[in-house]
Amino acid sequence: MNFVNPKKRFGQNFLTNDKIAEDIVSFLSDSKTKTILEIGPGKGILTKNLIKKSNKKKKFIEIDSDCIEYLKIKFDGINDDLINKDFLKIDLNSFDKPISIIGNFPYNISSQILFKIYENKNIINEMVGMFQLEVAERICSNFGTKKYGILSVLIQAFFEVKMMKKIKPQSFYPIPNVDSAVIRINKKNDSINCNEILFKKIVKQSFGQRRKTLRNSLKIFNIPDIKKEDTIFAKRPEQLSVSDFIYLTNLVDNENI
Ligand code: SAH
Repeated sequence: MNFVNPKKRFGQNFLTNDKIAEDIVSFLSDSKTKTILEIGPGKGILTKNLIKKSNKKKKFIEIDSDCIEYLKIKFDGINDDLINKDFLKIDLNSFDKPISIIGNFPYNISSQILFKIYENKNIINEMVGMFQLEVAERICSNFGTKKYGILSVLIQAFFEVKMMKKIKPQSFYPIPNVDSAVIRINKKNDSINCNEILFKKIVKQSFGQRRKTLRNSLKIFNIPDIKKEDTIFAKRPEQLSVSDFIYLTNLVDNENI
């Protein structure tokens, strides 16, 4: 089989530019990683470079069994490393840790992939991923900008984020109707200095009502009036840096003990 019909339901837009594929794989930088996971190898344009690049353990997770059959024929000795499953349903703890993740991700599940990375941040050192430009910008954007939101704060709280390369639609088949970009995120050494679960709740709740001041959107936390005099509560979520959200979490947390 040398032809895989692109399937819309699996978000398949195959990269066709070899030079870009080489660049993406070269962005992997973490030397401590034990396992490199590729999400959605498709027809293997990144896979080819990954196999050449490093002698670390690699696993390729692909939901489409047609692609799996194609990859088995294309790459000798890859069979044991191919996993025909949905990445969103895989237990990442089953791999040798820490893990690096790479992929030209299916755009229909990019937020879910990022939330999964967030939930597994204790075992993930690095991710190099292609996203729709809009999503990539959201992850990398700073406070004070329109694109700054839940994913920006949650990811930036634990990872250094970097925009690596913008990519035109013509580099794919079929040609998507959006621009794309590759970003890299690298785990920070330090964890955040607050209750992590509450932090996530507060970030989500704040941006759930983006236009409201925090005084209004955080009412469900029953913060006493005296605390609410802190000027931070007069702000809107996009005005808060990651450290401000940590400060805010500690303010709310102390009252809940
Ligand atoms: N990496 C290839 C393919 C990119 S298209 C390239 O650059 O050309 C996205 C790939 O992700 C497709 O192969 C698609 O089948 C796969 N995919 C989609 N949803 C998935 C899921 N939930 N888990 C694993 N792979 C998935």
